[in-house]
Amino acid sequence: MPKKIRDKVKDLLNSKEENASVIVKGWVRTKRDSKGGFSFLEINDGSCLAGFQVVADHTLPSYQAVASQLHTGSCVAVTGKLVASQGKGQQWEVHSSEIELYGSADAEKYPLQKKRHSFEFLREIAHLRPRTNTLGAVMRVRNRLSHSIHNFFQDRGFLYLNTPVITASDCEGAGEMFQVTTLDMDRLPLNNGKTDYSQDFFGKRTGLTVSGQLEGEIYAMALSDVYTFGPTFRAENSNTSRHLAEFWMVEPEMAFYDLDDDMDLAEQFLKFLMKDVMENCQQDMEFFNQRIDKTILQTLTDIVECEFERIHYSDAIHLLEKSGESFVYSVEWGCNLQSEHERYLSEKVFKKPVIIYNYPEEIKPFYMKLNEDKETVRAMDVLLPKLGEIIGGSQREDDLDKLTARMKEKEMDPEEYWWYLDLRRYGSAPHSGFGLGFERLVQFVTGMENIRDVIPFPRTPKHAEF
Ligand code: ATP
Ligand code: MN
Repeated sequence: MPKKIRDKVKDLLNSKEENASVIVKGWVRTKRDSKGGFSFLEINDGSCLAGFQVVADHTLPSYQAVASQLHTGSCVAVTGKLVASQGKGQQWEVHSSEIELYGSADAEKYPLQKKRHSFEFLREIAHLRPRTNTLGAVMRVRNRLSHSIHNFFQDRGFLYLNTPVITASDCEGAGEMFQVTTLDMDRLPLNNGKTDYSQDFFGKRTGLTVSGQLEGEIYAMALSDVYTFGPTFRAENSNTSRHLAEFWMVEPEMAFYDLDDDMDLAEQFLKFLMKDVMENCQQDMEFFNQRIDKTILQTLTDIVECEFERIHYSDAIHLLEKSGESFVYSVEWGCNLQSEHERYLSEKVFKKPVIIYNYPEEIKPFYMKLNEDKETVRAMDVLLPKLGEIIGGSQREDDLDKLTARMKEKEMDPEEYWWYLDLRRYGSAPHSGFGLGFERLVQFVTGMENIRDVIPFPRTPKHAEF
């Protein structure tokens, strides 16, 4: 099987074997012709940030055969000898003895020319943008992060759980659901003037999941520690740089964990991921540090070494009230914290990640455990500087009566959640969990400004191309 540039570079560093013969396959990033009758081709195959420089002698017959079609974007296989490079920027180069053209790319039409393109423009060519340095680096980091998410949980004995994508439960207020139906939208079956969902595919109204938590709890109440890692859908009409309509969420759920354990796990988890990515994606992370955010490596290093601040919601409100800042959204006890508040606390006050916990009962969903004060619930959010909320979690209400009472207060029908209540009816146990937005993590770690540039194919209001 063909070896990729990444592995060739590794081999080379180990062997330092000059004049070895190699074959390099990849896409031409740049081509520069020298006066001495040579062309310098920068070949990249996406296996790592760095490409290989190929020096092609214009007198080679195979070069002449393809010369007119060798442009940025074309794909080639180059056979040649490995030579220590005289030029700056690379240790090795390939002096080609043969060049084979796999696919040409019209120099006039290929949208990815050498110059820097805006990320907005690159989103319009999402089928070609993975060939850029930045998107390539993002995707390698994203891949590493998902690998190490599994490592983190697997090493701790958590079971990977697949919760349903199509569901009838909306996790109460987590977000607006996309509806899933096979009904003919132009001719809806009616019953007393309302859509008759009994004729729909599942015999009831269904949608795409906004969270796998409730189903995660079912399995935690049998297998102790589980985690989900899957696509999540929210039809929120929020055109921000931190929201997608389709994103991936990691949701661990743990039996016998209280809120402190939950916060401990969340903190360890984030530190583990940040450390791991710095160790295993060095080249890409250097790139982000140079080109995207000059503070990112220092920020990640500081986070790995610091202790997260943990404060009560009430204390956070107090700090915001006496801050003297003019926020767009005013602050008072009982309000939802906005991104500007979250960033103020983590960026200006503590200058590190902050976990806010014990939120007012009224602004949090029914399933969070009520505190003795009956005014707050055992909820926690992890906030990061610059980003705001990355994780939201809670200890779950395990008392049947309290849970039922809260559902009624929130005008929910306990009958609909009979299975969820059964978990409290039969062998209830304290348990906790949280949800981490995977793209927010990738965004934070890479320093990228917009969440649309850290997922292969972003879905946002009015955008579902590709
Ligand atoms: P926010 O207040 O930022 O909209 P939320 O409180 O609605 O988020 P949760 O229901 O707590 O979000 O979801 C858990 C995590 O999932 C969040 O902490 C965040 O990291 C991520 N997340 C939520 N909504 C989105 C979205 N639309 N796009 C990307 N990630 C999201
Ligand atoms: Mn939240």
